[in-house]
Amino acid sequence: MDKILIIGAGGQIGTELTAYLRNIYGSSNVIASDIRATLHPELMEGGPFIRMDAMDSRQVYQVVQKEKINQVYFLAAILSVVCENNPEMAWDINIGSLNSVLRIAHEFSFKMFVPSSIGAFGASTPKMKTPQLTIQRPSSIYGVSKVAGELLCDYYHARFGVDVRGLRFPGIISNLIPPGGGTTDYAVDIYHKAIAHKHYTSYLRADTYLDMMYMPDALRAAATLMEANHEKLRFHNAYNISAMSFCPEMIAASIQKFIPEFSIDYEIDPLRQSIADSWPDSVDDSAAREDWAWMPEYDLDMMSKDMIDVLSERFAREKNE
Ligand code: NAD
Repeated sequence: MDKILIIGAGGQIGTELTAYLRNIYGSSNVIASDIRATLHPELMEGGPFIRMDAMDSRQVYQVVQKEKINQVYFLAAILSVVCENNPEMAWDINIGSLNSVLRIAHEFSFKMFVPSSIGAFGASTPKMKTPQLTIQRPSSIYGVSKVAGELLCDYYHARFGVDVRGLRFPGIISNLIPPGGGTTDYAVDIYHKAIAHKHYTSYLRADTYLDMMYMPDALRAAATLMEANHEKLRFHNAYNISAMSFCPEMIAASIQKFIPEFSIDYEIDPLRQSIADSWPDSVDDSAAREDWAWMPEYDLDMMSKDMIDVLSERFAREKNE
């Protein structure tokens, strides 16, 4: 019987991943944990929750031992824009806590999932069809922490045999939890503004292409990689994955198919634009497709339709409450 601990469960990905894994493995077998005390009600009420700081290795150790954990999803992190405002904290959380949880994984032999990001690439990385193995010299502290995290996971796998697996997530779009301060957050906010105001002001240039993915695909990708045959995984960590690549102009055109009066204008934020400019336009995820049969289900228009349907219904319900 699998017993899963999610560290950093209260964030954009963790909240939905917790519910997704509870459906597969049973509510009582998936323990959510986060440094924050209050999280989305579904997460708190849907199964066990522990308030835990990922940097408190003693507490992580005790929880793993007491609960007989055999899988950890390590999602505690700070994201790109927030990292730039506090590089020291970015390093301590994104790398310090990862390092101590990997040490505990070695001792207890649990399987780990650690997400990386398209932020692990930099301006000298090939921008189109970015290969699985390529130049990684990011200029943001978030990117530096993500490359270091990838290498640390590779090291623990090669040196100690820790079964640690991971994906380089693109920008993740969700209709439930607001994003945590990343460069791709606009692609969530634009749907909220499209429904509420029929207008959006983009902080990225009209032609800024980035890889993106709708949350249901991201959840399935993480769970599928964790269940994949170990022998078939050539890379273990940091698999490139993508579902779509688009720019603000394209997502606006997609929204106009469902909300014809929607309009967009641009006020560029230099920090977020410079981070986005240093990331790939589109990654090559053929290794993930070959090794563990990765295949996205949602394209841009399917995602736009679903986002607009779900959010419109929720906003209408909230207005009537
Ligand atoms: P998020 O910021 O929404 O959530 C992170 C969670 O970690 C928060 O609930 C926060 O309270 C928690 N946390 C922070 N410090 C902690 C600590 N010391 N101890 C315990 N919990 C702590 O982030 P997310 O979007 O859910 O991202 C999860 C992972 O996926 C991160 O590694 C991120 O780099 C990666 N990723 C996310 C995206 C995306 O678009 N959301 C894209 C690429 C990669």
